[in-house]
Amino acid sequence: MTDEKRVKCLIVGAGPVGALAALYAAKRGWDVEVYELRGDLRNASTTPLNFTRSINLALSERGINALRYSGSDSLLDAVVADTIPMYGRMIHSQDSRGALTETAQPYDVHGQFQRAIDRANLNKTFLSELEKLPNVKVLFHHKLTGADFRLHKAWFERRLPSDGDKRPGEIEVDFDVIFGCDGAHSSVRYHMMKYARMNYEQTYIDTLWCEFNIPAVSSTHTISTTPSARDGFATSPNHLHIWPGRDSMFIAIPSTDSSFTCTLFAPAATFAKLEQRPHDIEPFFQAHFPGAADLIGPGSITEQFTKAPHLPLISIKCSPHHYTSTGIILGDAAHAMVPFYGQGMNAGLEDVRVLFQHLDRHASTPSGRAAALDAYNAERVADAHAINDLAYGNYWEMHAGVQSTPYLVRKKLEEFLSDKLPALGFATQYRRVSFTNQRYSEVVEAVAAQRKVLVSGLWSSVAVAGIAWAVWLSRPGGLFARNRINVFSELRGVAHNIADAVRGILR
Ligand SMILES: Cc1cc2nc3c(=O)[nH]c(=O)nc-3n(C[C@H](O)[C@H](O)[C@H](O)COP(=O)(O)OP(=O)(O)OC[C@H]3O[C@@H](n4cnc5c(N)ncnc54)[C@H](O)[C@@H]3O)c2cc1C
Repeated sequence: MTDEKRVKCLIVGAGPVGALAALYAAKRGWDVEVYELRGDLRNASTTPLNFTRSINLALSERGINALRYSGSDSLLDAVVADTIPMYGRMIHSQDSRGALTETAQPYDVHGQFQRAIDRANLNKTFLSELEKLPNVKVLFHHKLTGADFRLHKAWFERRLPSDGDKRPGEIEVDFDVIFGCDGAHSSVRYHMMKYARMNYEQTYIDTLWCEFNIPAVSSTHTISTTPSARDGFATSPNHLHIWPGRDSMFIAIPSTDSSFTCTLFAPAATFAKLEQRPHDIEPFFQAHFPGAADLIGPGSITEQFTKAPHLPLISIKCSPHHYTSTGIILGDAAHAMVPFYGQGMNAGLEDVRVLFQHLDRHASTPSGRAAALDAYNAERVADAHAINDLAYGNYWEMHAGVQSTPYLVRKKLEEFLSDKLPALGFATQYRRVSFTNQRYSEVVEAVAAQRKVLVSGLWSSVAVAGIAWAVWLSRPGGLFARNRINVFSELRGVAHNIADAVRGILR
């Protein structure tokens, strides 16, 4: 790798992906400037875009692996120290007599787990790490308003809180390469589209979301706990809690202060009804998510629903993710996805690791960088599209699959094979996505191939058992012979029923 000159890298957006990208770029010796629209997140008065307060996210292997390769020994330890292990899902429901139930479903037969992390705390850790590096400048209250990817110039509006109503000033900045880490509504992507022939697709699903909070037990508001409650948490601290509904879902993720950040996902029409009739909010929770309202505190549930923003869920696919050697989009800017696989941030952090892996294989010259960005794009677009689709699919798994017998049978079967016959290479899709670094597009292929093998295996076993059964019943004096039953039409009927069951399991 030849260092032609110090590369000047602008990073737009100091969210988790921008902050990690800044660390990687700085460790590579580049001159890094990070421009962030909002104020410093370490300041308690700064609210993250789209959230009234910070939310908790599930950090899994891909995110952790990206931290491992950041070049900072202390970063991973500092991040992990601030997380809570979640060993599986806890499904909350009601039995036939109306009694509340909770059922733990471990994530993984090998004991792998997710980690709950506070998004704001993660960002604070990243920013504090960046501050230690002499070749990084972080500029808050700077909004990207334009970029010319051929002239290597970008423009930012600077609006400091002390400016009041004054017209914001604009600054012009030169760059060698610009990283767009500015989220789903990325300005970098918008300006890059004028240069790259970018295909772009965005979809809003008919589901909105809204945050809630289950307070710690010591707080005066908690009037209820579940049997798994401990250590000041109103319910198990080591699970991701799900109240599955027919077309909605309520989830809760533990926080280090013993509270839970919770999210209601429901169709837009349900939100509209509840907005019009706030006195229906508590009965709605009692009917669809038994026990959840009591954990939140019935007194505060209506207030929480009314005060929190009701936000849409967007999914974005685009290609390419870069323009020559001068611009690239990463994280939500390149592939915002619905949050049902808990992979949005993990995939964004993985983008950074994969990008720098490609940069390390090429010369540090404009043409070397262009080749690296091309190679990254060739690899990563397929993976971004794959996780986008998987995230959609997981909504069914989270709100319906977790209570569906065929789904649970398949999970058990795949886990059994993964545990007892590891040489066969079986693993659940969830394990591959959350606990390995296998490329997302390869996960999709591997799972499809594995399901084909399962289908063949199930069919072969069924066929052998069916033939043995028919031979037994058709023997002289057997049931079929005695009653002159046509063995083939019987077998056809049985095969039909079994096919339905197999289809259900392999869905
Ligand atoms: C309800 C919900 C639950 C989720 N749960 C999970 C989970 O469990 N696990 C997981 O991995 N992911 C989860 N995600 C997804 C995760 O939050 C995102 O994927 C992640 O925050 C993306 O990080 P980012 O840095 O790419 O973008 P962002 O976090 O959106 O950061 C972008 C930054 O750019 C700044 N910015 C925007 N425009 C400009 C501009 N013009 N100029 C300068 N700066 C700008 C913004 O202020 C912001 O700081 C969830 C998302 C939602 C909505």
